[in-house]
Amino acid sequence: MKSVVFRDTEKLEIIETKLQNLKDDELIIEVANCGVCGTDFHIFNGHSYAKQNTILGHEFAGTIITKGIDCNGFEIGDNIAVDPNIYCGKCDYCKVGKIHFCENHKALGVTEDGGFAEYVIVPVSQAYKLPKEFPLSQAAFAEPLSCCIRGIDQAEIKHGDSVIIVGGGTIGLLMLQLAKLAGASKIIVIELNDLKHKYALELGADYTLSPDKINLLFDINKITKGGADKVIECVGSTDAVTLSIQLIKRGGTVVIFGLAPEGKSVQLNLQDAFKKELTIKTSFLNPFTFGRAIELLINRKVVVGSIPVTQIGFDSFKEIFSTSYKRNTLKYQFTNKLKETL
Ligand SMILES: [Zn+2]
Ligand SMILES: [Zn+2]
Repeated sequence: MKSVVFRDTEKLEIIETKLQNLKDDELIIEVANCGVCGTDFHIFNGHSYAKQNTILGHEFAGTIITKGIDCNGFEIGDNIAVDPNIYCGKCDYCKVGKIHFCENHKALGVTEDGGFAEYVIVPVSQAYKLPKEFPLSQAAFAEPLSCCIRGIDQAEIKHGDSVIIVGGGTIGLLMLQLAKLAGASKIIVIELNDLKHKYALELGADYTLSPDKINLLFDINKITKGGADKVIECVGSTDAVTLSIQLIKRGGTVVIFGLAPEGKSVQLNLQDAFKKELTIKTSFLNPFTFGRAIELLINRKVVVGSIPVTQIGFDSFKEIFSTSYKRNTLKYQFTNKLKETL
């Protein structure tokens, strides 16, 4: 089968590979769609870890074509979305329910073969069944949405809170919908690219502002009466985190959601932080949130149909992952059937 293999930093290969032998508790999935994530680009650039010689792709959905004998509840032909994060269940962290800190954590598309391929082997524990009519291209958003749910849980939004989302990319657009569902009274999206403001407004943002606006802090103070109760940073950069801390109200919470390149740090004004009783949280992976993500998607409480997605086949990987390529879309999604659209 065709697959996209990570060899080393800045080295991806599109090659023929063979599936491993199927175990009793595993399924073979024909991949329909697999999102290209910021993490995939970080892996390619050497800023995030992946095991060498692994097939990348961790945001995928597809159809079961073969099943092991210990896969009760799943049938050939079922459509599923896949939680790529696999926990051991045996280490100290797993035993206290902090599975995302698992000492033996594995992830499909990072340490095990993932979804940028025609087929992928998936442990049945990672499979979530989908209604037949639900589009698989939308189901491929379940993984990023499940991570966003973790981020929203960390923010602990109360009804009536003002919320700022820093970054209006795919993650920002998912976060803003979750913030709305969580009861935010005002949602402000801060995004450099004017074109993305339109999508944020369509999906429920009350205000969109550019971070390079001269009066940004003044405007935010006016809209929120002294800063937002919650700020969710969805960029993964020093500038975005620094800005997030500036925009928070006294007693507020900043959630750093974006993954910054390794080695980046921010300066924190300790007196400001002290006087604000500032809470800074981060959000890591998607512990116990995948099923909730599926429910929100299939019940159309979070909509991804209006997020512009560029479908790509195997042929486009080289171009998109070249260091000089200027990415100009919100989301790339690998598809085995280029004809399928959102
Ligand atoms: Zn991802
Ligand atoms: Zn563990």
